[in-house]
Amino acid sequence: MIKDGLASAVHWSGLGRLVLSGADLTGLRVPVLLYHGVAERPGPDQAGRAAFAAQMAYLSQRYTVVPLSLAVEAVRAGHKGPTDWAVVTFDDGYRNLLANAFPVLQEHRIPATVFAVPGFAGAQAVWSSADPESRRLLGWGEMQELSRAGLEFGSHTLTHADLLNLPPATVRAELAASKDALEQRLGVPVRDLAYPWCRFDERTVDIAREVGYTSACAGGWWMHHLLRRLMTMKRVPVYPGDSLEVFRRKLEGAYCYMNIGATSRDRRRAPPAAGNAE
Ligand SMILES: [Zn+2]
Repeated sequence: MIKDGLASAVHWSGLGRLVLSGADLTGLRVPVLLYHGVAERPGPDQAGRAAFAAQMAYLSQRYTVVPLSLAVEAVRAGHKGPTDWAVVTFDDGYRNLLANAFPVLQEHRIPATVFAVPGFAGAQAVWSSADPESRRLLGWGEMQELSRAGLEFGSHTLTHADLLNLPPATVRAELAASKDALEQRLGVPVRDLAYPWCRFDERTVDIAREVGYTSACAGGWWMHHLLRRLMTMKRVPVYPGDSLEVFRRKLEGAYCYMNIGATSRDRRRAPPAAGNAE
């Protein structure tokens, strides 16, 4: 099955340089990029359309961009390589992805995952400080359109909840109801989760597993982009002001030293100020 998936990725990306295994490869290192919205101009939570287009052009030339589900499947299957994979994800599910991100992804045949917040479908992201138009979220019809076009959808909880400050029953409800809503409306299995505000603990991970998620994304890069622990996957945030050079260095892990020494307490930090939402 994994080989079928890989063959499909090769076909999709137009690249034939995948290596299924190799004794010289020590681990599956996959940068998982984290975006939010893509607006005409950069702003809080919003990459600028021109910068995003340049980043995707660079990415498609230098990396084999695979769906998150395929990367997860490869990790579960114990694959150690290849090392030129990358994954693209978008948190929150902003409506401007339709006009500003999807055409770019299509142009470069880049697969991506959108982590949506079903309780706010078609509404505004009240947790975002972006301008009112930019913080509008995809409605169900638009999500169905993107899903049919090949984008993957995961859950970002039902209401963008801070899972560390809720009783277990509410955490379970946030995770289960969002999964159910996405599966029923989109007609596809939903197995991937992204923790709002990047806030999780062992209890959160246990409940997510029990509810049926098989992978979960965090944010930050305190451990770089080693895609190993599937329920606490690190991602590489791309910020609105990032130059193409910064983007390139992020992909290569050049800044991972910034978070060396981060403690579990750091991971339980308060939700970031508006404008840095994850
Ligand atoms: Zn979010």
